[in-house]
Amino acid sequence: MPAPTRPTPDRDSREWWERVALGEFAVQECEGCGLRRFPSRAFCVRCRGEGRRWVAIRPVGTVESWVVSHRPFGQGEIVVTIRLDEVPDAVVHGSWEGTGEPEGGSRARAVFTAVDDTLTLVGWREDHGATGTLEDGPLATRSVSDVRSSGGAG
Ligand SMILES: [Zn+2]
Repeated sequence: MPAPTRPTPDRDSREWWERVALGEFAVQECEGCGLRRFPSRAFCVRCRGEGRRWVAIRPVGTVESWVVSHRPFGQGEIVVTIRLDEVPDAVVHGSWEGTGEPEGGSRARAVFTAVDDTLTLVGWREDHGATGTLEDGPLATRSVSDVRSSGGAG
């Protein structure tokens, strides 16, 4: 399996990645006018305010488009563009982890995949349940085991 492209968090996106690692899909919300935005930015595009807070949203949306990047061997990778339910102005790009190719307009939900201790990636798969309350939680695919001995007990 090819190594995933490693994102390089910057000043604006670092906290987003930290929250993703905890299984949370968060967006910034302007403290001035309440506009939610994604990806994170230093200031609000509507009121230019710099105050913002992070809010966890339901990680669900609608498939808007996708591209298939073919590889010389094996299956091609599908990158989808998702329009978030709770931030209609924003789209998110991520790998498609559903079955087969996505369909435009179909419902999708985030899948969190822990690559290693410091990197968790967000992909997308079809979501037939479609409501996606926060209580459902994201579909978590933990690929690393966090089970450790508490130590000392030989
Ligand atoms: Zn604002």
